Amino acid sequence: MITSPQAGAILEIDLAALAANYQILSRRVGGVAGGAECAAVLKGDAYGLGAEQVGPVLARLGCRTFFVAHIGEGVALREILGPQPSIYILHGPWPDTEDDFLAHALTPVLNTPEQLDRWARKGRSGTSRTGPLAAALHLDTGMNRLGLSAAEAMALAAAPERLAGIDLRFLVSHLACADQPDHAMNQEQRQLFDRLRAALPPSPASLANSSGIFLGSDYHYDLVRPGVALYGANPTPEQANPMQEVVRLRGRILQVREIDTPQSVGYGATHRAAGPRRIATIPVGYADGYPRSLSGQGVGCLAGVSVPIIGRVSMDLITLDVTEAPRSAAHPGAMVELIGGRGETVDQVAGRAGTIGYEILTSLGRRYHRHYIGAAPAGDAGDTGNA
Ligand SMILES: *Cc1c(COP(=O)(O)O)cnc(C)c1O
Repeated sequence: MITSPQAGAILEIDLAALAANYQILSRRVGGVAGGAECAAVLKGDAYGLGAEQVGPVLARLGCRTFFVAHIGEGVALREILGPQPSIYILHGPWPDTEDDFLAHALTPVLNTPEQLDRWARKGRSGTSRTGPLAAALHLDTGMNRLGLSAAEAMALAAAPERLAGIDLRFLVSHLACADQPDHAMNQEQRQLFDRLRAALPPSPASLANSSGIFLGSDYHYDLVRPGVALYGANPTPEQANPMQEVVRLRGRILQVREIDTPQSVGYGATHRAAGPRRIATIPVGYADGYPRSLSGQGVGCLAGVSVPIIGRVSMDLITLDVTEAPRSAAHPGAMVELIGGRGETVDQVAGRAGTIGYEILTSLGRRYHRHYIGAAPAGDAGDTGNA
């Protein structure tokens, strides 16, 4: 683990804000009792923030259903959370991995007729001594990515005996345009979901991701599956962010260079100083997930003053023009806020980089000193000090 004095940048992850976000979403869908259940999506190592830290915080708040993408993520999360919660694997089982699911008590989201038939066969076989095997079934209502097509779902409806051996926990689908509340796809997908559900054996249902929760209670069904909103990104891009900020990234100034015109900064000499400037170099680069597309586009914040990134983002370094910040603040060791705090939000940084908050979060580098604040897991010896 990288300690604070060794690190060129500090990634602070606020577990109290994460907890608050879970509660905001949970209340929004009707609270723990009554209304819909609020699950949590922890794929991609909890969107880059660390499933090991995030999972227990949510479990303690009463979250009892978790989603990850890969079986490997599920095996790791089972270790972290213990036997109680349900852990769903969004990608479902590859052939001959059914026993791995059972060994770790993981529940597949079945996406294809082939996955469905294999899981059902497993459930009917003598090897499963526990009776029917739990699963969710994914119905594709417009993403054309994963799940049974409408035709495949209707074929299943005509032959429901194919579900024998399966304990069908949820019918799920996934919205393509939930972050655009006026998009016609939202209603179309919901209506197709309802039509397919009506043809299939009755089962609890789940449709909404983070943004879907904010489309209204018609979209909540029995279980909602927020990911990114838990981690502080805005699920309602057209409105103020209802979530609390979870991530703060600060980089430490390694060197300050005074330059005169006419001089350039960085690879490709893409930036030429227009007058005498002070340039601060920070050891954060694209190898840390700081996107190269922020070359000449990003901004940091030094002592409350916005300081632009000039020149190219390189693998391990960025250069910022700190001329406008107080001279006394721009010294080696001083911290520049790159995400959160008085700096820009994850969504603003993503906008400048031409991407989305999801990609910024899931790219957060392993070379940062990770500092978890807010809700240290009980008995956890992990780093909570080192301010
Ligand atoms: C990733 C994912 C989610 C969570 O989406 P967010 O937009 O991060 O809330 C929910 N459901 C499925 C099927 C997903 O793949």
